[in-house]
Amino acid sequence: MTDYPDSLYMVIDGERVTGGGRDTFDVVNPATGEKIGDLPLATESDLDRALDTAQKGFKIWRDTPAAERARVLQGAARLMTERADDIARVATMEEGKPFAEARIEVMMNVGLFNFYAGECQRIYGRTLVRPTGMRSTVVKEPVGPVAAFSPWNFPIGNPGRKLGAPIAAGCSVIMKSAEETPASALMVIQSLYDAGLPKEVAQAVFGVPDMVSRHLLGSPIIRKLSFTGSTVVGKHLMQLAAEDMKRTTMELGGHGPVLVFDDVDVDRVLDTMVPHKYRNCGQVCVSPTRFIVQENIYEKFRTGFAERAETIQVGDGMADGTQMGPMANPRRPDAMDRMIGDAKDKGATLHTGGERIGNKGYFYAPTVLSDIPLEAEIMNEEPFGPVALINPFKGEEDMIAEANRLPYGLAAYAWTADSARQKRIAREIESGMVGINSTMIGGADSPFGGVKWSGHGAEDGPEGLEACLVTKAVHEA
Ligand code: NAD
Repeated sequence: MTDYPDSLYMVIDGERVTGGGRDTFDVVNPATGEKIGDLPLATESDLDRALDTAQKGFKIWRDTPAAERARVLQGAARLMTERADDIARVATMEEGKPFAEARIEVMMNVGLFNFYAGECQRIYGRTLVRPTGMRSTVVKEPVGPVAAFSPWNFPIGNPGRKLGAPIAAGCSVIMKSAEETPASALMVIQSLYDAGLPKEVAQAVFGVPDMVSRHLLGSPIIRKLSFTGSTVVGKHLMQLAAEDMKRTTMELGGHGPVLVFDDVDVDRVLDTMVPHKYRNCGQVCVSPTRFIVQENIYEKFRTGFAERAETIQVGDGMADGTQMGPMANPRRPDAMDRMIGDAKDKGATLHTGGERIGNKGYFYAPTVLSDIPLEAEIMNEEPFGPVALINPFKGEEDMIAEANRLPYGLAAYAWTADSARQKRIAREIESGMVGINSTMIGGADSPFGGVKWSGHGAEDGPEGLEACLVTKAVHEA
């Protein structure tokens, strides 16, 4: 297996760009807190060069037949399958998640590239035949060069999403993935190059996020912004995109409600939801966060949750048996201490966790809080960490009202045996994705995205491809 790469770089106009007196960013292994890499950061002239190249890349790629675009995506999927262990290991070193989780992430990305290889061959238009003999043709065209910004929590899957659909559609992409997890993103893009993607079509830059996004979104060359990250940054970037009326796909924060009714097998729900809560240390936009539990089963639910949380093996993601790794960066345990402290001060009950583990790396104990007042910060802001929030409710109406209380609407979950209630909940919950008696809320073929402050547009599925296309109507006499 590979170790962490000796050198990190950007890919601009087909060239690996590094050094040259550029500022650098320290990449750190969150399990140890030790530096593992030096990442060069883009200058304004690097970004100008990337923009010129993206324009050239767009012209090349939009005129490339869909079958060839499909061949490249399938080839990259095959290479990523062969390289899965190496890519997963690098992702674990950069982000901290257990190796097995990182490997699943690689294979999900493989599934997405294969899905888009098929889907890009089904970009259809339509012909409208007029009685006068005039014909109108409606065609779908790629939107143009895309600026894509992706975060650190899925170091492989996020870059894969930012590249897959635009490449399928015939766009070029300038991707700035998170500076914390650059090597994983570079391994995804390298698989595409090795499968034959012209290097002008996809480029990787890193930099000071605000400088990079202002510069790229300030250019008329970029026709679409694709962003995954926090709502606050998303709103700011949308304003920049609005200046030039760029297309946007915004994949923002959530505060996942989980409705648990008293007609369920509580142990089965806990056996499913507890691992789902602590997956990737809770640093997941669709993480189940607010457990909205019917009062008859409340005591059993919160006690059972805490008992299971205490059995989770926390450690280095590369160690055998690790079920939860460290948090990805020092900002996260700081945020946990602040939010959990605030909830306790306001009267919440701490059942387990609520503290850091060890004195190296960014480990945090799986945490369970209950009876949390609604005014606590953690009940309103996305905690993005290993903390379950459990509160009691009387019945369906209150529970749906609590689920819809926040301006977020990304993923919601509900557990109930009552089929009529399942349908009511599916309709009433304000959320882009709803899992009923299941944690499955996505897949390569289904749209992943939110409503309200969780953003708009979707990635994955035919919707993700559609979001990279514009419609043109041509009327011919
Ligand atoms: P953050 O909000 O500053 O950054 C989130 C991501 O956006 C990072 O990858 C960052 O590089 C990027 N970013 C920030 N400012 C940017 C800008 N001006 N232009 C372009 N990209 C920019 O902070 P953070 O500490 O990394 O994460 C904090 C919060 O972000 C979390 O609590 C969570 O709510 C949210 N987040 C969401 C997701 C998600 O999958 N939706 C992923 C990571 C973080």
